[in-house]
Amino acid sequence: MAEDIFDVTIIGAGPTGMFGGFYAGLRGMKCKIIDSMEALGGQVSAMYPEKDIFDVAGFPRISGKKLCQDLEEQLMRFHPLIILGEKVLTLVKRPTDNVFEMTTDKGNKHFTKAVVLALGMGSFTPKKHPNPELVPYEGKGVNYGVLSLEPFKGKRVLIVGGGDSALDWALMLEPIASKVTLVHRRDEFRAHESSVQKLKVSKVEIKLWHELKTVKGNGKVEEAVIYENHTMAEETLPMDFVVLNFGFQASLSFLKDWGINLEKNKIPVNPKMETNVPGIYAAGDIVTHPGKLDLIATGFAEGAIAVNFSKTYINPGEKAEPGHSSSLKL
Ligand SMILES: Cc1cc2nc3c(=O)[nH]c(=O)nc-3n(C[C@H](O)[C@H](O)[C@H](O)COP(=O)(O)OP(=O)(O)OC[C@H]3O[C@@H](n4cnc5c(N)ncnc54)[C@H](O)[C@@H]3O)c2cc1C
Repeated sequence: MAEDIFDVTIIGAGPTGMFGGFYAGLRGMKCKIIDSMEALGGQVSAMYPEKDIFDVAGFPRISGKKLCQDLEEQLMRFHPLIILGEKVLTLVKRPTDNVFEMTTDKGNKHFTKAVVLALGMGSFTPKKHPNPELVPYEGKGVNYGVLSLEPFKGKRVLIVGGGDSALDWALMLEPIASKVTLVHRRDEFRAHESSVQKLKVSKVEIKLWHELKTVKGNGKVEEAVIYENHTMAEETLPMDFVVLNFGFQASLSFLKDWGINLEKNKIPVNPKMETNVPGIYAAGDIVTHPGKLDLIATGFAEGAIAVNFSKTYINPGEKAEPGHSSSLKL
C-alpha cells in the first residue's frame, strides 16, 4: 500500500496539540494528530474536566470539559486526521527522503514531513495503590480521578490523599455525595491553604494518619478497609466509591531514542520551537526555554509558533507569519 505522507503530525492532543492542529489547518497543511489517550484534551480532560479554569484568555471562567469541546470544534473546522488510543513508540527520519516514520503500540506506521511534539508530561498513567486486590474493582467503584460528578450523586465516597486533587475532589463531591470521608496518611496537607481551610469547615469527615488497606464487595465496591498507621487498627467503612489521588507517573524515556536532546526531562527549544533535530518541533508543557511557564495560555502560543515554522521547514518559500484569520472567509 502506498505511504500516506502528512505535512505535519502532532504527537499529543492536549490544548497545545489541539490548537496547533487548528493552525495547521489554517495554513492548508495536511495534518494528523496522534494521542495515546482515548479522548482529546490531554491533562485537562484526563485530570480536571469538571474544574473551572479562570486564566484562558477571553473566557473569564470555563470548565475543563467545555474548553476541550470548544478546542475540538475549532480544530475540526479543517478536518485533521485524529488517531486516539495509540502511543507513538518510535520516530525515525529516513535519510533517503527526510520523511519521518513513526510506529505506535498498535503496530501502525505513520509518515510525515514535519513533527510537532506536544507531549505534555509524556504519556501519563495514575500511580496505583500497591494492593493488587483493588485492580478488579477499577471502574467498579475504585477511581483514579473524577471524570464526571454525576455517578457520585447520593453515594458514599472515600477520598484518599492529601494534595490539591484530593482536597479539590472532596470539596466538589461534598455537596452532591451522601457522605465524603477523606483519609490522609499524615497530619499535614500538601494542598493550597485556602482548600485546607474550606475542608476544615466542610462536612467532609477527615481521618488523619489513616491509609486505605483494601476494598471489598460483590463485583463492585461495597466496603473500604482503612487503618490507623501508628496502631495499625483497622476499620471497615460501608462505601460506594474510593477515589485515589497518588499523582501520575509520566514516561519520557523514549525521547532519547528519538535523538531528541533533553534538559531535566524537558525538551529545549529555540524561539521557533525547533528541537535539535531539523523538522521536529516541540511546544507546551514538554518544552523548556528562558521564560517558560507551564500553562494552557503559553501552550497555545507555542503550538501556533511550532506549526507555522514547520510550514517553512516543509516549504522554505513560505512565510512563518500566518496572516490574520479575521481576513479569511470561513
Ligand atoms: C489539576 C490541574 C489543574 C490545572 N489548572 C490549570 C489552570 O487553571 N490554568 C492553566 O493554564 N493550566 C492549568 N494546568 C496545566 C495545564 O493543564 C497544562 O499546562 C496543559 O494541559 C499543557 O498542555 P499540553 O498540550 O502541552 O500537554 P498535555 O495536556 O499534558 O497533553 C499532552 C498529550 O500528549 C499525549 N502523549 C504524550 N506522549 C505521547 C506519545 N508517546 N504518544 C501519543 N500521545 C502522547 C498525552 O497522552 C497527552 O494527552 C493544570 C494542570 C493540572 C494537572
